[in-house]
Order: sequence, then structure tokens, then C-alpha cells
Amino acid sequence: MSTHKEEHEDDVAQIRDDIDRVDAEILKLLAERKAFSIRMAREKGIHDRPSRDMSREEDLISDRINSGMSHDLDSGLVNRVWREIINDSVRVQQEFLGRSDSLPGSVTVAIQGIDGSYSHLASQQFFDSKGITPSYVRSATFADALRAVQEGVADVAMLPVENTTSGAISEVYDLLLDSQLKFVGDVRFRVRHCLLGVAGASVNGLRRIYCHPQAVTQCSEFLAGLDHVELVYFSDTALSGKRIGEVNDPTVAAIASEEAARLYGLDVLKTGIANQEENYTRFVVVSATPAEVPDGVPSKTSIVMAVGNHPGALMDALAVFREADINLVMLESRPIPNNPREELFYLDFDGNISDPVVQSVFDSLTKQLRFLRIMGSYPSRDLRPRPVEREVARVEPKGLSALAAVAPAATPKGYKLGSRVHKAQNTVIEVAGVEVGAGEMIMIAGPCAVESWDQVMATAKAVKEAGGSILRGGCFKPRSSPYSFQGLGYEGLEMLVEAGRAYGLPVVTEVLSPDDVEGVAKKADILQIGARNMQNFSLLSAAGRAHRPVLLKRGMSSSIEELLQAAEYILAGGNQQLMLCERGIRTFETSTRNTLDLSAVPVLRRHTHLPIIVDPSHAAGDRDLVAPLALAAQAIGADGIMVEIHPNPEEALSDGPQSLRLDQFGTLMGALGFAPAAGGAG
Ligand code: PEP
Ligand code: MN
Repeated sequence: MSTHKEEHEDDVAQIRDDIDRVDAEILKLLAERKAFSIRMAREKGIHDRPSRDMSREEDLISDRINSGMSHDLDSGLVNRVWREIINDSVRVQQEFLGRSDSLPGSVTVAIQGIDGSYSHLASQQFFDSKGITPSYVRSATFADALRAVQEGVADVAMLPVENTTSGAISEVYDLLLDSQLKFVGDVRFRVRHCLLGVAGASVNGLRRIYCHPQAVTQCSEFLAGLDHVELVYFSDTALSGKRIGEVNDPTVAAIASEEAARLYGLDVLKTGIANQEENYTRFVVVSATPAEVPDGVPSKTSIVMAVGNHPGALMDALAVFREADINLVMLESRPIPNNPREELFYLDFDGNISDPVVQSVFDSLTKQLRFLRIMGSYPSRDLRPRPVEREVARVEPKGLSALAAVAPAATPKGYKLGSRVHKAQNTVIEVAGVEVGAGEMIMIAGPCAVESWDQVMATAKAVKEAGGSILRGGCFKPRSSPYSFQGLGYEGLEMLVEAGRAYGLPVVTEVLSPDDVEGVAKKADILQIGARNMQNFSLLSAAGRAHRPVLLKRGMSSSIEELLQAAEYILAGGNQQLMLCERGIRTFETSTRNTLDLSAVPVLRRHTHLPIIVDPSHAAGDRDLVAPLALAAQAIGADGIMVEIHPNPEEALSDGPQSLRLDQFGTLMGALGFAPAAGGAG
């Protein structure tokens, strides 16, 4: 006799068996689908067709979603599952094509747009001239095209950067700056916009035009002459053409290339509709690896630079090119997001990185620029011919006599840009009206960690009133123990920045991870890299790409040479706005938290042009020792002092014992000779 319970268990077992059977069926079907993918790859390989067709993929997914709904399946689930299936099948196909594709010089190009788009046509022109028939990864956005290269799905991306009518394509410039990709080529492509329609369409009968915003700008005069026509925007000219073919309505037209008309079976209603007959777009080819340009091949080099905002800064930078007799071909400016005081300049010139003259230009530039990134050298057909070949003047580093006066004891080992050999004059860092390294010592002060609004406001007031220049405060704290207070993060940063703004003080805060550099740089005026991270090389490289000055602290067990080598990572990354900080090192001495190595100041001064800051607080670990050490740092010639202060050190969440009370800080400032400023929030 079977009980009710036993029957129930039988049912459950049966259902489990059924589910197993269905899953086995699903797996068998997935394997079958994969076999078809491989067959398709074989076909694509033979007929040289692209391995990915984005618009077919989108159509397929919407079809599956529709069928899924008729089975009562959730559209989100179907969407997610089929995207995974398609991604896998693309991977399988590409692997297959990669193995079967042994043609030398074959290349996969990522473009934004579909076949017949200008990026596609420009790629054909570029690679035709090299005898290469590329395969394509067609992306919906510029960012996706770049990602395809970064992820190794494509070898290069072909991206438009400027047009003779509509100007710079800033979105692409901003993406390129963010990426680590190198320029390996460029091509000037003649864009011939046409008005395309389906059979039976005429210019006068149009009600709607599908178009790309760039095409609208470039054809604005023609479009202004059309009455009652609605513009519908598309991300790609060829796609707008393809869509009107699908819509098949004679009142709907598109602006695209003649090639797109041919590909999608459309009529050309009118050619040459651009404002300028000579309408060119320049595309750059970018890759994860730099191009090697043989000597003697006419080439172009692209750089990005930030010059600082004193009068004549840009002129001084450009003068370096004039002195070296180098031809500039393009100069374009872009604001730095979240940093309205600064501007970036994109600059192209005739020349090759491997040329010693170009090298010496870079040497001179790094001495005066705030930021320099070399995007790459590449062969170019897009160069202006030079009338006569002249003797090329060499740029000799200036200030050789000054260098002799402060000749370093040893030649720099493992660093160059930070050395006095490279740059004899001291670097001055200007940040929101404060100059560091200009000869007058500055004070950086604030709490170890930002703890509350009241705490940081009271501290900022004290810093300002005593004549301090920069407000410090940790938001991301590198604590030796995971159980200690870790900081308030971005919320703390908001408070710090607000307090700095209220009292007219730029702020410095520590950044712990490469991922946070961009986010912290959006808000903080100076990025601090702490002692524990002095040799965190990915963090150093990320700070090298930032457009904010960096304060790099000496590691507690690092030599001065190692500090200079760590600094080199930041300078070599492009960022020339760097100051170094001595904060005490570990010795056998235990009566202080660390031993303040004051001799580091003159030793660094001898070897480097970078400003030198001394932090007596972390060295001493004891507030009573901070004032005498600060006075000694001043005497030995530090460019700045950084101290920790707190309205109520006994209750500080970190480093209370070494934090000065606000009145003690006022007394120290007096002893150092700082003149008090008129108080009050500004
Ligand atoms: C700090 O300045 O807050 C700090 C953590 O210092 P260091 O990296 O020198 O220990
Ligand atoms: Mn601290």
C-alpha cells in the first residue's frame, strides 16, 4: 500500500527525470546549432564574407523574442539567452576563420556602421592601396569599434576624426584619449553625399529623410531648401539607406553614399548635395600595437598635449616645432571633461618618432608641458609637400650652463624625464592659483581622513586662516588593518571638495586603485599616491594618464632612486605635473613611527627638477614632534610641508596621535612665517 507521501516522492522524481531529459535535448540542439555555425564559417571563409552581421543578429533576436512570446516565455530571458548563443557562435566562427585564414597580411577592421558606410568605404580605399582585402567587425557605436580592438576581436579600427565641413568629431577624440590604442595610419576620404530613395521617389515628393547628424551638418544648405521634410536620425549613413529600402515608401529618402545605393538596391535621387563640393573626412587607423615606420617613408606623428594656462604657453610649445623646422599639419583643441580650466591640444606633424630630431622635440616639450601623450607615428599620404629640403636644425636642450651648476652626482638609473639631466630648471606646478615649486614654500594641511562635514569645514577654515594653500583629506584610506576605518569614499570627496571651495583651497586626496583615478580626478585638484602604493605600477600608470597634478609619497622602505623610478612611470604616462613627498622611512629606530629622512630633500633636489614636499606627521607619529620637524624641513629647502590637523584629535578615526589641534597648527604656521589670511568662507 503506497502512502500519500510516497506518491508525492514518485511525482517529484518523475518531474526531475523529465527536466533532465529536456536539458539533454537543449544541449543536443545547442551542439547541432554549433555544427551549423561551423558550416556557415566555412561558407563565409570561401566567399570572403564577414564573420559578423550585426543587423542580421538584431533581426534574429527580435524574431526569437516574438516566437518566445507565443510560448509565453519572458522576452528578457529570450533576449539574454540568444545574445549568449549568438556571441558563442561568432566566437566559434572567428576561431574557425582564424585557423583557416593563413593569408599573410589579412586584417580584421572594426568600423562603426554597416557595409556602404563611409568608414567601410574609407577602409576599402586604405587597404586596397596595400593590396589587402580586410574582413570587418561592424559595430553600432565608435566605442564598440574601439572595444573590438581592445578585446582582440579586430586588429584595427577605422575611425573618423575630422571633416572639412563639419570639423572635429569630438566623440572620437575623447574615446581615443581614454583608450590606450596607437595611431597606425590615416586616410583622407572624399565623402560624396547623395540623396537616395526607393523606386518612384522624387525630391519634391519627400516627407521624411533618414540621416546621420554629421551628414545633416555637411548638407545643411541642400536640406534648408526642402520644405516640410522631417529628419529622422540614424547612427550610420548606410544604415539609413538600408532602412528606407525596407520601409519602401517613396516619400522617405536617405543621405548616404552611392555605394550604399548599389548595395541596398536604391535609386540615387540627387548627387553632390554637400555644402562643399570638396568634402573630405579624415579617418585614423588605430591598433593595440604601434606601427613601425621604416626610415625615409613619409610619415606623420600625432600627439595630445596640455600646455598650462599662462600667457604664451601654447606659443612656447609650438615654437619648439618651429625651432626644429618641423611642419605642423593639424592642431585641434578639446576641453578636458570636468576640468574647465584646462584644454587639450591634438597636434599632428610631419615626422617619425624614431627620428632623433623628433625625439629632441619631445624632450623639450616634456620640460614645459603639463601633459604629453604620443598617439603614434605612421606612414601617411596625407602630408603637405615641402618645397625644398633644408638642413634640419637640431634642438639642443636649453639651460646647459644651469645644469653644470647643479650637476647630479651620478647619472640617472632607470629614469630620465624626472632627472635634472633631462630638465635643468625646476618644475613649477600651478593648481587653482597656487604655485608649488616656485620658490615660496607652501603648506598643505587637513585631517588624515575626512570624517564628517563639520570636521572638514572647521579644518578648512583653520587652514585658510593660518595662510595654508592646499586642503588635504583622505577619503579612501590605505589602512594596515582591514578592521580600521576605511574612509568615506566618494561621499567624503564631495565634502572635501565643498569645504575647499568654501575657503578657496584646492584639495588633495589619496587614490588607492587604478579604477578610481578617473573618478577621483573628476573632483580632486591633486591626486595623492600613498607610501604603500609607491610601487603600484598600474596605479602609477593610471595617474600618468590623468590630467591632474600628482603627489607621490616615498614608500616606507624605498630608496630615493626607487622613488624617482616610480615617478618616471607617471611622467612617461604623459603627466608632467608631479611632486614628490618624503614622509619618513623604516629604520631600526623605534622612538618615532618612521624616521624622517631630511637628507632626501637636498639629494632629490640634486637629481630632479620636481617639487619636493615633506610630511613630518606620518614620519613622527607624534604631534609634539611635528613642529620641530616642519621647521627643519623649511630650513633644508622643501617646496612644501604637509601636516595632519584635526579639530578634536582625541576622537579622530585615524592618526589622531600625530594630528595637530587647530590652535597648535596656527602656532606652527606663525613659527614658519606664514601670514594669516582674513578668515571666513569665500
Ligand atoms: C596620508 O597621507 O594620509 C597617508 C596615508 O600617508 P602615507 O601614505 O605616507 O602613509
Ligand atoms: Mn594619516
